[in-house]
Amino acid sequence: MKLVILGPPGAGKGTYSGEIKNRYNIAHIEAGRLLRQEISNQTETGKNIKEIVDHGKLVPDNIIIELIENRLRQDDAENGFILDGFPRTINQAQALDNITDIELVIELFVPREILIEKILARRTCKQCGAIYNIADIDREIDGVHYELPPLSPEKEGVCDKCGGELIRRSDETPEILEQRFATYDEQTKPLVEYYEKKSLLRKIHVTHGKEIMLEKIFELIEKELGM
Ligand code: ADP
Repeated sequence: MKLVILGPPGAGKGTYSGEIKNRYNIAHIEAGRLLRQEISNQTETGKNIKEIVDHGKLVPDNIIIELIENRLRQDDAENGFILDGFPRTINQAQALDNITDIELVIELFVPREILIEKILARRTCKQCGAIYNIADIDREIDGVHYELPPLSPEKEGVCDKCGGELIRRSDETPEILEQRFATYDEQTKPLVEYYEKKSLLRKIHVTHGKEIMLEKIFELIEKELGM
């Protein structure tokens, strides 16, 4: 199973990919996490990209492509994988095409105003990367009802999974967010068309909470891959 999950910052790519990984026993490969690991390990690459990541801009294609290529070679990716946060540019998508054959691209769609509210309410575990969300949304936009309950930890500020501290990422501020959306619109959105042309793209409107959306996503994957 070789999947890509596509969508703007805050759409829930990380949350859903984690569940897809567990259900199908595939590797969850997160571009942002690979980059942040380089930064926290203070590798040469990490030092070069810290400024860029902190400002919500994209790191150079060659850097992320190399990290992803190495990650895809690890044992756990043999059984399949879901790519989350990669590709983010046409260049990266073309590089990926040269490495492997993607079977399905899932596009998560969420209106921008909901995204912004969700992202500012996001909390990430400093230790294991688990993601929580304290926003509670129940609203109609363009005739569609969005009912997105919070995904809170049992104890405020503490990770349920590992007890680590929950923090707001340094790129999760309104100003940086603007920049990340602009980057998404300019560089990543063209991928929708890129994968549409290859007939690999399937769009999912994120209108409900995690459990309901997961059912829809699993159903889609199993239908599309003939499982
Ligand atoms: P989000 O999905 O919420 O935007 P990520 O954790 O995926 O957050 O990414 C965080 C940051 O890492 C991005 O803002 C960008 O600076 C960098 N990054 C992540 N993925 C890529 C990529 N494929 N290409 C270039 N830069 C990336």
